[in-house]
Amino acid sequence: MEQKTDAQKTILIVEDEKNIVDILRFNLQREGYRTVEAYDGADGLEKARKENPDLILLDVMLPKIDGFGVLEVIRQSSLVPVIMLTALDDEAYQIKGYDLQADEYVTKPFSMQILLRKIGAVLRRSGKISKEENTEDLLCYGNLRLDLAGYQAWEGPKKLELTQKEFELLREFLENQG
Ligand code: CA
Repeated sequence: MEQKTDAQKTILIVEDEKNIVDILRFNLQREGYRTVEAYDGADGLEKARKENPDLILLDVMLPKIDGFGVLEVIRQSSLVPVIMLTALDDEAYQIKGYDLQADEYVTKPFSMQILLRKIGAVLRRSGKISKEENTEDLLCYGNLRLDLAGYQAWEGPKKLELTQKEFELLREFLENQG
């Protein structure tokens, strides 16, 4: 098995049509992604849990559990980006996908170049969101919060008046917790 590097993103392909999986795998790997495949909805859910993918390409018409069912279960515990693939060029289906919180919806036959760009855009968006959630510029310890970008510190709701030296000391302390 190939090694996964930090930069390499894993994409889970949930699709029962083997020729589509083949072409997706080929193109995604060529773009540097690691791919994991599932050929029905139940396997898709299991791999989504086990492989912790960075993005899921999810077909709608799948054996065992359809794509909407898979998405519904995934969304109960995860905000992993999901791009739905379907042969159904049907507005009601697309709306259902978005209502279930799909990030994108692509109808077959799709352009590989467009799909790759959509994947890139969705991954960039999700990377940004998780960065904000990780609050890289905010250090917290107990009820202490340090805003590194704004050079401000709070204890609970109270803003602390610190000299720059005190701020740096606190920062060092919070960065080396434990
Ligand atoms: Ca299918």
